[in-house]
Order: sequence, then C-alpha cells, then structure tokens
Amino acid sequence: MIQGKTALVTGSTSGIGLGIAEALARQGAHVMLNGFGDSQGALDRIRALGARAAHHGADMSKPAEIEDMMRAAEREFGGIDILVNNAGIQHVAPVEDFPVDRWDAILAINLSSAFHTMRLAIPAMRRKNWGRILNIASTHGLVASAQKSAYVAAKHGLVGLTKAAALETATTGITVNAICPGWVLTPLVQKQIDDRAKAQGISIEQAASALLGDKQPSLQFTTPEQLGALAVFLCSDAALNVRGVAWNMDGGWVAQ
Ligand code: NAD
Repeated sequence: MIQGKTALVTGSTSGIGLGIAEALARQGAHVMLNGFGDSQGALDRIRALGARAAHHGADMSKPAEIEDMMRAAEREFGGIDILVNNAGIQHVAPVEDFPVDRWDAILAINLSSAFHTMRLAIPAMRRKNWGRILNIASTHGLVASAQKSAYVAAKHGLVGLTKAAALETATTGITVNAICPGWVLTPLVQKQIDDRAKAQGISIEQAASALLGDKQPSLQFTTPEQLGALAVFLCSDAALNVRGVAWNMDGGWVAQ
C-alpha cells in the first residue's frame, strides 16, 4: 500500500527519478525530491498531482550532506518508507585516459550514496517492519560496454549491494531490489547522442537511431513512465516476495 507512505527519490529533478517520483505521487505517496537544476519545476509537478513534496539539495557524493537530507526527511515527513536510489552521472573514456576525479565522482554518486542512504534508512524501516528500497542500476549493472569502466563498476557494485541488503532483510517487511533500464531518453543520454552526432558528423536523429541500433533490439527508448510503473509494482504488497532481483527493462539489451 503506497498511499500515505513517504518516498525519497534521489536525483529526481529530471529524467528517470522525476518519472518515478511522479508515479509514486499518483499512488498517494508524499515525496522528498533531491537533485540539482530545476527543483521548483519538479516540486510543481509533484504538487500538481496532489502530493505533499519537499526538496533537499544534498550533493550525493558527500556523506555529511546525505545525513542532513535524511534528517530533513525525518523532520518533514516523519521518516522514509520508500527509498529510491537514482542519482547518477556518466563519463565516457578508456581506462587509461579516465580522469581520476571522474572515477571517484561516479563511484561516490552512483554507488556509495546508496550505501549511505540505505544504512540511514533501514533502522526505521526495521522498526516499522515495512520498507521498499529500489536501486536504479542499469543494463550496465549486468553487462559491460567499452569506455564506461567507472559506470559499469559502480552499477555492478550497486546490484551486489542490492543482493546483500536483500538477504539481510529477507525475513522482514523490507524488500530491496534493483531496476536495470536500457536506453532512456534523458539529459544523461542526450549528451551521449549529441557527442556522437558531433564526432561522426551526423544528425541528432541519426545518432539516436545508431545508439539504439548498437544495443537495444526493440529500437525504442524505455520511458520514465514505464520505469515508474515498474517501481509502483515493486512497492506494492504483491511484490513482497520479490527480493534481491536486478530487473531489466531494456528492449532486449541483455537477452543478446
Ligand atoms: P538525468 O541526468 O536526467 O538525472 C540525473 C539526476 O541526478 C538529476 O536529478 C541530477 O540533478 C541528479 N544528480 C546528479 N549528480 C548529483 C549529485 N552529485 N547529487 C545529487 N543529485 C545529483 O539522468 P537519468 O538518465 O534520469 O539517470 C537517472 C539514473 O538512471 C542514473 O543512476 C542513471 O545511471 C540511471 N540509468 C539511466 C539510463 C538512461 O538511459 N538514461 C539507463 C540506465 C540507467
């Protein structure tokens, strides 16, 4: 039952995080948003659905700021029932040229931040004997692509963290699962399309088709709305015994 629960969705000012936040708000959840950029626009979209919403601008690479955000959620909503670890960044380069600061940032934002939010959220979930933790990994949590070493390492790590925490909470009302999207047309992927168009001297449309053709047999982007619907299912009572999975929604990417 999602109605009346509080969801914290990290990195929810755009893209997949905002799509999941909206889907949970439609089911009657209160939402704590996080992320950079247009926080007012995201707040307006959630409130337009009739949900209570707040925003905290914690930088997910900074444990002290994450702790502050978790305390703010406690003050504002009395704690977190649904935790969606979604904030993430990408950088593309071969291992030998990978900037060390980008490696550190990707590991901190895409992996360690989920450890911090989970270690801080699980005690109260245990007391209520109810919780849902969704870690937004990627097909890159299951298979690799060249030039994405930090992202692939972080996302494989996030799937491993998901499984370990699912085992630790297996006899409780807390479930921990990962969602592994293939290509979703968000600012994170638009940048890769723009870079490809520039490098190959082709149009944006041609670059988007080539990107899908490389990896995603359906030749269609997964949408934030579809991922929101999967998140709603994983938060439902029917999903109580779905534990420790890494559920891909990827147009056939990892079936190949
Ligand atoms: P996006 O760029 O639209 O959104 C990323 C969000 O994270 C934004 O709200 C941004 O402000 C926030 N963010 C970035 N750095 C942050 C930081 N240090 N602290 C707090 N917030 C920060 O990207 P997206 O495509 O919606 O990605 C969301 C998640 O989905 C990421 O974890 C990404 O790896 C994953 N994912 C995306 C795709 C895809 O094709 N777009 C595929 C698989 C997985």
